[in-house]
Parts: sequence; structure tokens; C-alpha cells
Amino acid sequence: MPANDPVQYQTFANMNDSEEWARALVGSVQVDRENRVVVVAGTCPRCDDVFEQEIRNDDITIEAVAAGATADNSRPRDKWRGPMRFTVACLCRVEHPGRPSGTKGGCGAAAIMRDGGAVGG
Ligand SMILES: [Zn+2]
Ligand SMILES: [Zn+2]
Repeated sequence: MPANDPVQYQTFANMNDSEEWARALVGSVQVDRENRVVVVAGTCPRCDDVFEQEIRNDDITIEAVAAGATADNSRPRDKWRGPMRFTVACLCRVEHPGRPSGTKGGCGAAAIMRDGGAVGG
């Protein structure tokens, strides 16, 4: 079957693009506070490839921690309440021309998300 034109690997040049990408992906993001994991499983809005990403504690920032007075970052994480941020990146396994070696995959698209909503980044 004929291949579509390949999508070039490219990171977003500006925040608006990444915000738009993140918004299109919101429905594919599952936040499981009980098991402390965020799973992104869906189709990348930019390259149209399916990917799955699992985001665990260390990659999630509880916003109350950053804003709080405590220096102990480990405790509030256990509570898993309040808004949080995490970075979602396209991790598809399709080859995209220009992808740097050592990159796990994807087309370069990535964004910071907050809870289920996008804030861009
Ligand atoms: Zn892709
Ligand atoms: Zn992609």
C-alpha cells in the first residue's frame, strides 16, 4: 500500500502550537490518581500515529508542592490531590525523518498538560 508523505520530526516552535496539540489529545489522557499514574493512549494529533505513554510519579509535578511552603517534596506527592502538571510527548514508533538518534520515538510533538486540561508549554 502506498505510504503517505512522511511527517518530519520537529518540536513545536511556539506555545500556541503545543497548546493546540495538547487540547486535541485531552480525550486520550487518563489520570489515575489512585494508582498514581497518567496514561496517554491515543492518536497523535500531529502525525496521526498511535502511541502510548505512561507517566509516573517522578514525572508529575503536584502544583501545590511547587507553591507550598514545605521543602519536603516527597510527602505531598503521596496525597495526590490538587492540580498537577506532566509532560506528554508523542512516542509513536513510526520513523519520522530528522529524528535525532537516541530519541525514543515520536514526531517531536510534546506539551505540558495540567490535570486533564492543557496549559501549553
Ligand atoms: Zn508519528
Ligand atoms: Zn506524533
